[in-house]
Amino acid sequence: MKKTALVTGGAGFLGSYLCERLLGLGFKVICLDNLITGNIKNIETFRKDPRFEFIRHDVSKPIFIKSKIAFVLHFASPASPADYLNYPIQTLKVGSLGTHNALGVAKEKKARFLLASTSEVYGDPLVHPQTEEYWGNVNCIGPRGVYDEAKRFAEAITMAYHRVHKVDTRIVRIFNTYGPRMRKNDGRAIPNFISQALLHKPLTVYGKGRQTRSFCYVDDLIDGLIRLLMSSVASPVNIGNPNEMCLIDLAKLIVKFAQSKSKIHFKPLPVDDPKQRRPDITRARKYLKWQPKVSLAMGLTKTIAWYRTVMDT
Ligand code: UDP
Repeated sequence: MKKTALVTGGAGFLGSYLCERLLGLGFKVICLDNLITGNIKNIETFRKDPRFEFIRHDVSKPIFIKSKIAFVLHFASPASPADYLNYPIQTLKVGSLGTHNALGVAKEKKARFLLASTSEVYGDPLVHPQTEEYWGNVNCIGPRGVYDEAKRFAEAITMAYHRVHKVDTRIVRIFNTYGPRMRKNDGRAIPNFISQALLHKPLTVYGKGRQTRSFCYVDDLIDGLIRLLMSSVASPVNIGNPNEMCLIDLAKLIVKFAQSKSKIHFKPLPVDDPKQRRPDITRARKYLKWQPKVSLAMGLTKTIAWYRTVMDT
C-alpha cells in the first residue's frame, strides 16, 4: 500500500514543491492550506492526481484526519518578512498552535514529523557563518520577532514531543530559497527585484545593500529536505546555499540577467534586518551527503524565465 504524507502549507511556495516531489516518489499526499499566503495555482498541475487531496484548513485549528499517515511535514506559515508583518498573529499562531496540532497528528498516527524551521532562529547573527550550535540573537519584541519566536517555539515543542512522546522528529533550518512560484508581490528580495527588473522599474534596495544573504535554488532545497526526512538525524540541520553575497550585487546581477534598463533605488532598511547570513552546511554534507548543485546564474535564469510567463510585460 502507498504511504500517505500530510503536508501543511502544501499550496505554498515550498509546500507545493514538496507535494509534487512526494507524489513523484510514489506517496499519497494530503495537503492542508488556508491559502492566506499560499496559492491554489501552485498545486494546479497535480491537483487532479487521484493520490492527491487538498483540504482548505487553518492548521492553527485542530486537525482530524481519518486515514493512516506515515509522514507529517509542517510547512504552513507566512515566510516572507512582508507577509509576517501583515499577519503577525496568524504567524505566531501557526508556529505555536499549528505546530502543536501537527505534532498531535504525528503522535496519534505514529508518523515521522518534519518541521520547517528557518535561519531566522539565528536572528541578526553574531556568529558567522551560522552553525546549528549557535543559539541566535533575536529581538523577541521587534516586528520580526513574531516569526522568529514562533519558529523557536516550534523547534522547542518539536524537541519536547521527541523527548517526552518519542515522536520521530526532524527539524530543517531553511535559509533563503528562491525559484518559480514565489508570488511576485511576496515582498522578498528576489521576487521584488525580478518583477521590478522585468517592468524596467527601479529596484528597491533596502539600506545601502551591504547586508548579505545566501540564496538556494528551490530544487536543491527540496533534495535536502527529502534526504533529511529519510535520514535518522533528529537534531536541527541547516539547508541552504553557502554562496553569500551583498544585496546590492544581487540587484545588479538581476538587472543584467533580465536585460533590464532598471536603476537602483535605495530605501530604508527594515527594523532588525539581519546584517549577514550564510549557512554552515557541514552537518548536511556529513549526515545527508547533501550540498547544493544549482549555481545562482542557472537558478536566476530559470526563475526569471518563469516570471516572464506570469508578468504582463
Ligand atoms: N531587500 C531589499 N529589497 C527588497 C526586498 C528585500 O533590499 O525589495 C533586502 C532585505 O532588507 C534583506 C534581504 O533583501 O536584507 C533579504 O530579504 P528577504 O525579504 O528576501 O528575506 P530575509 O532574508 O530578510 O528573510
